[in-house]
Amino acid sequence: MPELPDVEGFARVLHSHVVGQRIEAIRVLDPGVIRGRSSSDFVDRLCGRVFREPARTGKWLVSPTDGPTLLLHFGMTGSLVWETSHDQDDRFARVIFETGQGMLVYQDMRKLRGLWLAESDDEITRVIDPQGPDALGLTGTELRDRLAGRRAGLKGLLMDQTVVAGLGNMLSDEVLWRARIHPARRYDSLDTAECRHLDRSLQQVLRTSVTQGSIPRTRSWLSSQRGAEAPRCPRGHGALRTSRFGGRTAYWCPVCQPSTM
Ligand SMILES: [Zn+2]
Repeated sequence: MPELPDVEGFARVLHSHVVGQRIEAIRVLDPGVIRGRSSSDFVDRLCGRVFREPARTGKWLVSPTDGPTLLLHFGMTGSLVWETSHDQDDRFARVIFETGQGMLVYQDMRKLRGLWLAESDDEITRVIDPQGPDALGLTGTELRDRLAGRRAGLKGLLMDQTVVAGLGNMLSDEVLWRARIHPARRYDSLDTAECRHLDRSLQQVLRTSVTQGSIPRTRSWLSSQRGAEAPRCPRGHGALRTSRFGGRTAYWCPVCQPSTM
C-alpha cells in the first residue's frame, strides 16, 4: 500500500523524468480513475502542458503544470512508473502521459482513488482536505498537539489522515513497534519517555523510508514480517500477534508492546 515514502518515490519519478517536459498525448485506458470531470475534459485541459516541479503532501502527489495542477492519489495499490516503451500486457496501466522522451504510466489495480485536476490553490485544497499536517518533520510538540486528548487508540490515530497525513498500515505498525507501544493505547496514557520514543521512532522510520523511496523490508524491520507464514518479532521475542484496528490488520509484539504499562 503506498504510504508517504512511496509517494516520495513517485515524486522522484516525476522529478527525474518529466519536469520540463511537454505532455504530447494522454491515453486514458480506464476513465474510472479520472475524478471530478470527464476523461475528454481531463485530456483537453492537460494535453500540451509542461510538467513543473512536484510536491508531496501526506499521501497526495501534487504535480503542477503551466496550466492546471494534476493531483494523484494511489489508494491501496497505485503506482507511477516511467517507461520508454509501453508494455501492452500491463493490465493495470490506467492513464499514460506521453512526452517526447517516454511515458509516465499511472497504474492501479483496485482503483480506489485516482487523478484529479485543479485550476487554483483553493481547488487543490478542496480536493485534498480535510488533511492533518504532513507526518514528515513533525516536531514532538506538534505530534502531541495532534494526538493528546483523543480517545481512539494510537494505531487508528496514526492512520487517520485528518490527524497526521502520510502514514498507513505498515508505517504505523513499524513506528509503534519501534517505540514499544501497544497499538490500542491512548496517547494520554503514555509517560514522557514513551511520548519521546513515539516521536523519535516516527521521524526515524520516515527518514529512512523516504531515503529509500519505500518502506524497507529488511530483517530488522517489522515490515519484513508482514505477510510471512509465521511472523516473528525482529528483536527475537517469538511470534507476533495480529489484531484488527479500524478495519486494518496490525502486527505487534506482545513482549515489546505490552497492552498495559
Ligand atoms: Zn518483540
